[in-house]
Amino acid sequence: MTRPYNFSAGPAKLPEEVLQQAAAEMLDWHGSGMSVMEMSHRGKEFISIYENAEADFRELMAVPSNFKILFMQGGGLAENAIVPLNISCGASADFVVTGSWSDKSQKEARKYCDVQIAASNDSNDHTGLPPPASWNLRRNASYVHICTNETIHGVEFQDLPDLKALGSDAPLVIDFSSQVASRPVDWSRVGLAFGGAQKNLGPAGVTLVVIREDLLGHALSVCPSAFNYKIVADNQSMYNTPPTYSIYIAGLTFAWLKRQTENSLSGVAAMEQRNLAKASLLYDAIDSSAFYFNKVAAHCRSRMNVPFLLRDESRNNAFLAGAASHGLLQLKGHKSVGGMRASIYNAMPIEGVQALVAYMQEFERTQS
Ligand SMILES: *Cc1c(COP(=O)(O)O)cnc(C)c1O
Repeated sequence: MTRPYNFSAGPAKLPEEVLQQAAAEMLDWHGSGMSVMEMSHRGKEFISIYENAEADFRELMAVPSNFKILFMQGGGLAENAIVPLNISCGASADFVVTGSWSDKSQKEARKYCDVQIAASNDSNDHTGLPPPASWNLRRNASYVHICTNETIHGVEFQDLPDLKALGSDAPLVIDFSSQVASRPVDWSRVGLAFGGAQKNLGPAGVTLVVIREDLLGHALSVCPSAFNYKIVADNQSMYNTPPTYSIYIAGLTFAWLKRQTENSLSGVAAMEQRNLAKASLLYDAIDSSAFYFNKVAAHCRSRMNVPFLLRDESRNNAFLAGAASHGLLQLKGHKSVGGMRASIYNAMPIEGVQALVAYMQEFERTQS
């Protein structure tokens, strides 16, 4: 059976091998007589699943030993509160607002600390990125928050800012929900990274947090214990019952990522090559057409989420219906920007993007 190509922004496509393995192991995981869903999180079976997942993620993402990896719940939106509860000390935080997600983050943080917008791309309707040298950073900020890939607007940082070079000692917090594992991370520039799994790593329900150890232990006293990074870290993410099945699927995805190779590269470096090839194929098709367009400045176009518009918006529904009948699913753009959005995360093969481009060209021909 060939499955359709699914361009959902999240929860999103998973590697087929991962789904097949999960199906094969559904009733009896490795001779245990249990489904992973039925296991105690304290038993040796689940502990081994957990430890492998953590070790694979650390290796895959080259996470240094002075960072903890936490498997939490609540998604990216809960982290918008959990981060200031843990590391703002009730003081101040600077936000770079580049689209809907970082805007949500700064609004939530206002409940817990003094928030300043250090820079924004409001004036160009979230289609560019303010250069780091223009950011208005405060000396005493507890942290600086950015969203490395704005999933809705399709705007991505191609490099992480070097806050030290900008005169700031504040830790950089990155929301990498829709970017994680699509390319390497320069951890020397990061204090804390968080992301829900459902874009690029696994199913909804588990949130990855990678935190530098010196940022643990500063939570406000009102911080819920289950969301206190120090307590979560001291209990290997098992202070309370973790989302066991989501962690298992994410673990299968990490193992799949480790197996991927491209030219002489493997893992995340291989994924980056593939993601670059997929994104340029799609952007080139959009740019070379008079029928479709993308508004984002070339230097910050997202490799993961490609929003595009039809010049004649009255054809949107026909485009989507035709796409579905060609086995190209979930291409409708977010309601706040309209048009189309193709999310081409790690699990999307180049063949899926080739099929989309072929359909776009065919649709354009039949409409003119
Ligand atoms: C999807 C997304 C979120 C929200 O994640 P939830 O799991 O729904 O809370 C936050 N930030 C970014 C960049 C996202 O793409």
